[in-house]
Amino acid sequence: MKIVRGILIGRMQPIHNGHMQVINKILEEVDEIIIGIGSAQLSHSTKNPFTAGERIVMISQSLAESGVDPSKYYIIPMQDINYNAVWASHVKMLTPPFSVVYSGNQLVKQLFCEEGYEVKQPPLFDRVLLSGTEVRRRMLNDGDWEDLIPGAAAKIINEINGTERMKNLSIKEISEL
Ligand code: NAD
Repeated sequence: MKIVRGILIGRMQPIHNGHMQVINKILEEVDEIIIGIGSAQLSHSTKNPFTAGERIVMISQSLAESGVDPSKYYIIPMQDINYNAVWASHVKMLTPPFSVVYSGNQLVKQLFCEEGYEVKQPPLFDRVLLSGTEVRRRMLNDGDWEDLIPGAAAKIINEINGTERMKNLSIKEISEL
């Protein structure tokens, strides 16, 4: 029987409980999920604090922690390119074949739709709190960011002194304004 693969692309800066819920939801519909780490070239800014490698470890350990079978997913970093018109082909080149695209991002949906893919908008889970922006805001303001992300991802952020990194980057960015 043909394997049905879906793809979810996100910057995952960092992975949070909304991403986890949506990944589990997608896995109810497809045999395998491709998790694309978007903007893989970006790190060390307050908007994109973590490297692609750090994000890979956060995602894989969060999925392991929640008991997701490792044979069910691929985690693939993908750099941005300058040309939106060929981005879907760029993604296709980097990944195993897939037939369904899951995204809440309007540009992502538009680009894959134009390439003829089935595009589905997954449900949003508590979007006000479960967003990378809110996690990063709390990290900078000594808030309860750990509540919003999987325990395994929080452990890695603490191991790499992620909040200290963000605060240092914030000082640098403010001084450059
Ligand atoms: P994101 O991490 O904000 O979100 C990824 C996906 O996770 C969303 O589409 C949404 O479906 C899901 N999600 C997020 N919060 C959720 C919640 N609370 N509940 C349920 N689901 C939730 O990432 P993004 O900004 O959408 O990532 C798109 C990536 O694609 C970026 O890295 C962007 O640069 C890249 N991109 C690149 C090009 C190019 O290079 N030309 C073009 C288009 C997109």
